[in-house]
Amino acid sequence: MMTNAVDQQSAQGGAPASSVRLPLRPELADEEPYGAPQLDVPVLLNVNENPYPPGEDVVATIAEEVARAARGMNRYPDRDATVLRQDLADYLEMETGVHLAPFDVWAANGSNEVMLHVLQAFGGPGRTALSFAPTYSMYPEYARDTHTTWVVGRREDDFTLDPAHAAATIREVRPSVILLASPNNPTGTALPTATIEAVCEAALTVDIDGARPVVVVDEAYAEFRRPGTPSAVALLERYPNLAVSRTMSKAFAAAGARLGYLVASTAFVDALRIVRLPYHLSAITQAAAGAALRHRESLMAQVATLRAERDATVTWLRKQHLPDGSPFEVAETDANFVLFGRFGDRHAVWQGLLDRGVLIRETGPEGWLRVSIGTSAEMAAFRAALTEVLHEQGEESA
Ligand SMILES: *Cc1c(COP(=O)(O)O)cnc(C)c1O
Repeated sequence: MMTNAVDQQSAQGGAPASSVRLPLRPELADEEPYGAPQLDVPVLLNVNENPYPPGEDVVATIAEEVARAARGMNRYPDRDATVLRQDLADYLEMETGVHLAPFDVWAANGSNEVMLHVLQAFGGPGRTALSFAPTYSMYPEYARDTHTTWVVGRREDDFTLDPAHAAATIREVRPSVILLASPNNPTGTALPTATIEAVCEAALTVDIDGARPVVVVDEAYAEFRRPGTPSAVALLERYPNLAVSRTMSKAFAAAGARLGYLVASTAFVDALRIVRLPYHLSAITQAAAGAALRHRESLMAQVATLRAERDATVTWLRKQHLPDGSPFEVAETDANFVLFGRFGDRHAVWQGLLDRGVLIRETGPEGWLRVSIGTSAEMAAFRAALTEVLHEQGEESA
């Protein structure tokens, strides 16, 4: 069997494996693989998962559909995931109220892969991708992996995006890809329509080899948005270079299934089809995702519960005080998590919670922590643990 060259050599008595350097791309030399800690603790509130496992009715439909797919598994899957993409279009049309017939839907193994496709198709050597920090920590990795230069503009102190700053940065940086997360991770901030319009308008003034930059609004958390918060799907009709990406990882409680999707013009989607691996989306994934979509009503009822829990968590956090007596700062959030702070030593707070069996995320600007919304029992455990940690810190500093 062919393994890699190093193993072969040592097996045949050549140089010992440890003395042979692999030709890793130099820019990857000091990189670590992506890794939010996957620790085995009772309360997991660190990666914005949906805390509710799928119900037995959902599990049964998935099992049935996966069994059907398994019976045809000697064949390659539908390369274009035609049925699933139509189901996703129907869902999105229902969720947003926007008629999507003129647009096309793309699907891949998580919106992480969708974004990689975007960078593979529209980024590349000599080109630049732009976003506004603090934002999703995976974006720079897609840029790195596609040899795309990565540039970030800034968000304001309250994590909103100033449309004038965004437009000026776009004209100056001349990116071929603009990524906007809304609601943003890790801050929870949703962008008003006017800001996305300003970004799209600015993009239309930039010339990239005779073309216009693409704007991707990453709406991974869209289903958690508060009433009145718009979706960028409504803007697709006006901006042919706009795409909106979504995922089944969060609202659909299907992070383990790996299904992300994007809606855009057919020309946009055709570009992504060029760079995808052949048969990138397994028949099993297509079947499981389609089955989960059929249960959207019960799944969306859980999303409503999580939204209420989120709002209650924000209200509670706003009443808490740091050991020095100053109130917490709590970011506005339209997602299933809350960013709060600011702590002099956030790592100590994170560790104190972990010691009490509650794992949250040490992320965002210095001093802030992010907690994902869990079940009401999990949020009670979080509140109790945080109260204890703050009390302990207050005593230490007294
Ligand atoms: C969680 C998340 C995603 C989802 O990624 P998947 O690959 O679909 O699981 C996408 N974008 C942002 C900003 C996220 O936080």
